[in-house]
Amino acid sequence: MRLDTTADLVEKIKSGEYKRFFITTHHKPDGDAMGSTLGLWHVLKNFSDQVTVVTPTDYSADLNWLPGNDHVVNFEEESNRAVALLDEADVIFCLDFNRLSRINQLGELVKNSGKPTVMIDHHLEPEEFYSYAFWTPQASSTCELIFEWSIEKFGKEVISKDCVNCLFTGLMTDTGNFQHNNTKPHTHRVAADMMELGADHIAIHERIYDVFSPTRSRLFGYCLYKKLEIIEDCRTALIYLTKEELEEFQVVTGDTEGLVNLGLGIKGIVFSVLIIDRTERVKMSFRSKGNFAANEFASKYFSGGGHKNAAGGQSEESLEATVEKFRRELVKYKEELQSI
Ligand code: 5GP
Ligand code: MN
Repeated sequence: MRLDTTADLVEKIKSGEYKRFFITTHHKPDGDAMGSTLGLWHVLKNFSDQVTVVTPTDYSADLNWLPGNDHVVNFEEESNRAVALLDEADVIFCLDFNRLSRINQLGELVKNSGKPTVMIDHHLEPEEFYSYAFWTPQASSTCELIFEWSIEKFGKEVISKDCVNCLFTGLMTDTGNFQHNNTKPHTHRVAADMMELGADHIAIHERIYDVFSPTRSRLFGYCLYKKLEIIEDCRTALIYLTKEELEEFQVVTGDTEGLVNLGLGIKGIVFSVLIIDRTERVKMSFRSKGNFAANEFASKYFSGGGHKNAAGGQSEESLEATVEKFRRELVKYKEELQSI
């Protein structure tokens, strides 16, 4: 199933009727979010000089090498500029998310702008906020969708080497380096097509995976040594981090990325949870194996969602209360988790 209602949009881009493009993505953007927004930025640059990527928040400095990164506007740092760009825009592209609540205050601004909105995304259950959509939950990543949409609608010529390096990044990171169950034969075909168009997979891999700071390495070691808790009868791994611990390891945006996967690497574990006391709220990451629906668990108890095996959520309660709530709810799934 693929939803594509972009025919009219494509005509308006080709004819020049739409020429001021505003591209945004979810808060705390990851590799797929930044790869897809900057990939699309490069594509639309073929048609116009007035293309901008605006992120709702900052993101990991490990993504700063992405070609085009210097032109990104962070709404939290430059809100006036972001609002002016939104006012001028002919059309708003929303990438790698499908609910306006995922872009914080920008969500209200987008909603109230009355402008045509394009959703390009691969998450389940989209909210109907868009005027145009290119969506399927079968895609590995939004980068895969941007790649296919651009080639289908405009031809291979619009994909530069810089563009394809952005797009390969999201394909690689959203599949956990081609390991997660969203990696299909088709994903590898897309990766091959990207390599043929110049994606430098070795350099991208190094820039994403071999860039741990010493403090981040120590944080991972500390979590494995001191914080990892194995709830054996539920085949679950739990790590939680306090504000003090975040300070001790000088945690910056992006440092905790991948931490939740450590639990799943343990033999017999089918559900892994990371709970972090962020300044704004308690943030949770869930990863699961097989049929255990992490997204349903996240949405039922922690106002979250996501994919079946990779989801997130949050809590307004204290860290301690959240951890306790998690333990309480988890027990209800003991039998299900044992049968995975
Ligand atoms: P992460 O654990 O890497 O932050 O998020 C994993 C996946 O869960 C993301 O790709 C995203 O789809 C989803 N996700 C994370 N946090 C939330 C949330 O608060 N709400 C919803 N609906 N999905 C989330
Ligand atoms: Mn994604």
